[in-house]
Order: sequence, then C-alpha cells, then structure tokens
Amino acid sequence: MATLGLQHKAKTPVRRAPRAELAPNEDDANSIAELREAATGCRRCPLWRDATQTVFGEGPEGAEVIFVGEQPGDQEDLAGKPFVGPAGKMFDAILNDAGVDRQKIYVTNAVKHFKFEPRGKRRIHSKPNAGEVQACRWWLDREIGLIKPDVVVALGATAAQSLLGKAVPVTKMRGQVIERDDGLRVFITIHPSFILRIREAADKEAERGRFLQDMKQVKRLMAA
Ligand code: SF4
Repeated sequence: MATLGLQHKAKTPVRRAPRAELAPNEDDANSIAELREAATGCRRCPLWRDATQTVFGEGPEGAEVIFVGEQPGDQEDLAGKPFVGPAGKMFDAILNDAGVDRQKIYVTNAVKHFKFEPRGKRRIHSKPNAGEVQACRWWLDREIGLIKPDVVVALGATAAQSLLGKAVPVTKMRGQVIERDDGLRVFITIHPSFILRIREAADKEAERGRFLQDMKQVKRLMAA
C-alpha cells in the first residue's frame, strides 16, 4: 500500500499557489485588506475551531471612527461580515437617524470568531472569556493602528475591556470619553443587542432613544 501511495503521489503534480494567493504574514500586513487576509488563518485562540470563518472588520481605511462590538453572531459567522444580523440592522437604522455617515465609519469586533454553544440545531451565543479577548486584541490593535481614527466606540463590556485593558462598568460609564495613554479617545456605550433583548415595548423604545443620543454624541466627537 505504501508503494501504491508513492506512485500516486509521483503522478500528481504538486500545485503551488501563485504569490497573490498566499496569505501575507500578519506582521507584514500594511493595509486592512492584507490584515483581513492574514486573519483568515489565525490560530491565536481556540475559537477558530468551531466557527465558520474569521469575521474581520469592514469600512474605509480612512474612517473617522471605529465601532467595536463583542463578537460575530450566528448570521455574521455565516456571511463572513460584521453587523449584518438583527442587532447590526438596528444599529444601521439608528446611525442613520443620528446622521452618522456610514461611509466614514469602520465596524469590527473585539473577538473575530463566533463563540457559541450548540443547542439542537441552534447555535447560542457564548461570551468570550478574558483570554480570548486578550488574544484577539492583537488584531484590533492593528486595525486601530492602520486606520488611526479620531475616536473609537466601545459597544458593550467586552469591547470596552479589550480597548481599555480592564473590566469596565458600562452602564455606569456610558456616554463618557476615556483617553488612553496613547491618546486614543474611547467612547463607552452599550451593545445594540441589549436593546433587542428588552421585552417591554416602552422600555425598548426608551433604550433606543438613549442609544440614539449616544450616537449623536459620537457624531459631535467626529466633527470635533
Ligand atoms: S478569535 Fe481572534 S484570536 Fe481567536 S482565533 Fe479568531 S481571530 Fe484568532
């Protein structure tokens, strides 16, 4: 059997990928496109094993603001795009209401693979742990370094923890701008999925209104 295997191998030419198909080394990536390509093969933490694909950030390289969520959800994992699920759609609508130009923003997540618990045919969101957030911060730091935004918006506790390097009480610090040691301004607010989870219609509407005010404040920070 071993001989047959060798004969088969000898007859099959080894296909080498043209240079353009090779993923650039992650340390050498000089653009968001190269960084995104490098991230497709990331093995820095175990989350790549069960997810469909890496879901990298999207938006113009000269974006004025970066919005950082927690991690891709079920629909984002399948589509390979951030913020395309129900929370992303609501987020888009509120940005529109706030007058934030979608062409001037970049959206990404603190963790770039979907973490979930299988439950029957469904995949239930599971919160990334501190080690996974820390491992994936390498990519977020590179995105921020390449885009050099005026302000970064932390959408929820996981994003705030990644951006500020420590646990942050989001409900208490919501609406505040924290300046990091490197000068980067981080605006703290909730993740839009929080609004979707509110059951009572009046409470949901009130929370949507608060988030809209947060987005208007972000717009003022962009203008400043
Ligand atoms: S979650 Fe982030 S660090 Fe972990 S494998 Fe995916 S891209 Fe890499």
